[in-house]
Amino acid sequence: MDVTRILENLNDAQREAVTAPAEPTLVIAGAGSGKTRVLVHRAAWLIDVEKLSAQSLLAVTFTNKAAAEMRARIESLLKVPVQHLWIGTFHGLAHRLLRRHWREADLPQSFQIIDADDQQRIIKRLIRSLDIDDGRFPPREVQYFINAQKDEGLRPQHLDDDNDPDRRQKIALYEAYEEVCRRGGLVDFAELLLRAHELWRDNEDLLAHYRRRFRHLLVDEFQDTNAIQYAWLRLLAGPEGIPFAVGDDDQSIYRWRGARVEHIQQFQKDFPGARVVKLEQNYRSTATILNAANAVIAHNNERMGKNLWTEGAAGEPIRVYAAYNERDEADFIVARLRDWSAQGNARQDAAVLYRSNAQSRVLEEGLINAQIPYRVYGGLRFFERQEIKDALAYLRLISNRDDDASFERIVNRPTRGIGARTVEMLRSYARANACSLWRAAGAIASDPIGGRAASSVNAFMSLIERLARETQGLSLENQVDHVIGMSGLIEFFRKEKGEKGVTRVENLEELVSAAKSFEPDPAGEMAPIDEFLAHAALEAGEGQADAWDDCVQLMTMHSAKGLEFPLVFLAGMEDGLFPHQRSAADPAGLEEERRLCYVGITRAMQSLYITHAEQRRLHGSDSYSLPSRFIREIPDECIEEIRPKVHVSRPLRAPERRPAARAPEPETGIRLGQHVRHGKFGEGVVLNCEGQGAHARVEVNFETAGTKWLVLSYANLDLM
Ligand code: ATP
Ligand code: MG
Repeated sequence: MDVTRILENLNDAQREAVTAPAEPTLVIAGAGSGKTRVLVHRAAWLIDVEKLSAQSLLAVTFTNKAAAEMRARIESLLKVPVQHLWIGTFHGLAHRLLRRHWREADLPQSFQIIDADDQQRIIKRLIRSLDIDDGRFPPREVQYFINAQKDEGLRPQHLDDDNDPDRRQKIALYEAYEEVCRRGGLVDFAELLLRAHELWRDNEDLLAHYRRRFRHLLVDEFQDTNAIQYAWLRLLAGPEGIPFAVGDDDQSIYRWRGARVEHIQQFQKDFPGARVVKLEQNYRSTATILNAANAVIAHNNERMGKNLWTEGAAGEPIRVYAAYNERDEADFIVARLRDWSAQGNARQDAAVLYRSNAQSRVLEEGLINAQIPYRVYGGLRFFERQEIKDALAYLRLISNRDDDASFERIVNRPTRGIGARTVEMLRSYARANACSLWRAAGAIASDPIGGRAASSVNAFMSLIERLARETQGLSLENQVDHVIGMSGLIEFFRKEKGEKGVTRVENLEELVSAAKSFEPDPAGEMAPIDEFLAHAALEAGEGQADAWDDCVQLMTMHSAKGLEFPLVFLAGMEDGLFPHQRSAADPAGLEEERRLCYVGITRAMQSLYITHAEQRRLHGSDSYSLPSRFIREIPDECIEEIRPKVHVSRPLRAPERRPAARAPEPETGIRLGQHVRHGKFGEGVVLNCEGQGAHARVEVNFETAGTKWLVLSYANLDLM
């Protein structure tokens, strides 16, 4: 027993939490105060000092990456591996339970997980097949409706239509969607949680077994649990379980996905007398970064209220850069990253955070040009790419012929003469006979007067059967390799022209390596291939980290939760983008955006840069915005503004506009004092010009809009 090792490097409050007696405990504390650290040490304490078996602990974290890190940290504290410790995300743990108890959960043994994209496709098809107006019931909205019900633990039969015909229709769609999933053995993300909850709720013996087993429930990022997750924890805890939850109300950023920060209060009601520990010392950031974060979050009204302090030095000021446009912003960030590496720092210690995934493209271009390796979290993750999903659909269909989503995806991919009409025929047969598309295909293929369609369908079915036979008994890697090759996918993408085809083939090859390095759970009861498929659906993208070391990290602020980096950039800090336009008018929405900003700022340990652009092209249209109000909420003394360098002021040539439509305009010089007209800002006078080519920009004093710097190639100025 090594009590000292577990308790050293903890402050008094942290130690109180780690060594707390076996009773419900809630740790509420700000960013970087050591919540996750407390959780890790608590687990080690229970195992090493309280002599509990690792089996009696259940630990829930927010991402698979965090789960892996937590396991590694516990092991390094204990100096022994802890295989039997259940640690994972809510979804991962729910999945594990459902695999073990598929019968009790009323699922087929080979059930498959579908992601949000698959789910949306199914809903879209459903809406079409039922002849419902998809203008009035957009698939995305229906999907949102269904998931929101599931997140609250509600099945269609629990829902009342409130005499609202639209709601009635959505409920009917929910029911029809459930039927499709049941028939195909498909489980979406929200369903994992709901099923796992029902599994325990409806199986007394099973629940009793798990309640006996898991006495200690350790939960990180508790502020972002949704109703069904909380209900699941509550059910497992029962009257005797000992929940130990850590969280920060100021970092609740998933309300839009059903998270309820109110669970912090609910916890204290459900577990009366729960010990509440507060941590206020921050160990992560410089005093300047912390002061900025504290000042911003102080603008929120709905808070439990706490103030973080640090013993650390003031550190560097926060640098704010006002860019002309998104490219200038990217150039600036790239230049700083270059300096960072040149000073001998590790690239993975730097992160660029943004509000919306779409912002990454311009940043990526800048990094590619500068040959700086980077990695994007989120966005289009590896397992979400089209060609990867195609290959996985083959594997899924081989594993479960009734998987309609996979069937539809690949029945004519690569093209094999099965057209939309044939597929429609299969669909209506399947509908009429309440069977899967595979079964429908069987019926149609054996129809002697089926003609060409029947023979193509027949060929497809034999291909799948043959692949199933040939891959039996092969290693996981060889199974994947064989299916990719024999399905014709490699050939198909090889024919695709240009870079894209090459990348797709590379990605498919990468899938084989992913299968090779995949380590199935030694105690797992699933076939390795099924485990691999589940992994692909659940852990999309997260597993790539190892091969991508020494890369600058790009991600949304949402995915940065819980992480920390010595150097952080917050890009695109403009009103409209962040806070997002959608939320700016709604006080609760604005507060959630501000919490997100707090999360962003508090990721930084030493250096923080904030950038915003005057003009931004995003989703194909231009916008002009003011710096984010969150920047104004940071005290001036924390900030150092970096002004763009003004090199030259001289006449320059305006770039050609719409060259295809007009003859080139030679010598249309923009001069100081020139009168110009702008589509949005109206008329003005040129005060200043600088830069050349794509970077040429002018400062214009507009009569009503005031003075602005504009990039010539975007501004479309009319000379007057
Ligand atoms: P977040 O709210 O962002 O999830 P957190 O509260 O979980 O943050 P941790 O990630 O656990 O905070 O800790 C932040 C940093 O401070 C980590 O680098 C951690 O190792 C360090 N740290 C925490 N407590 C101490 C301590 N007592 N002594 C030294 N370092 C500490
Ligand atoms: Mg944490």
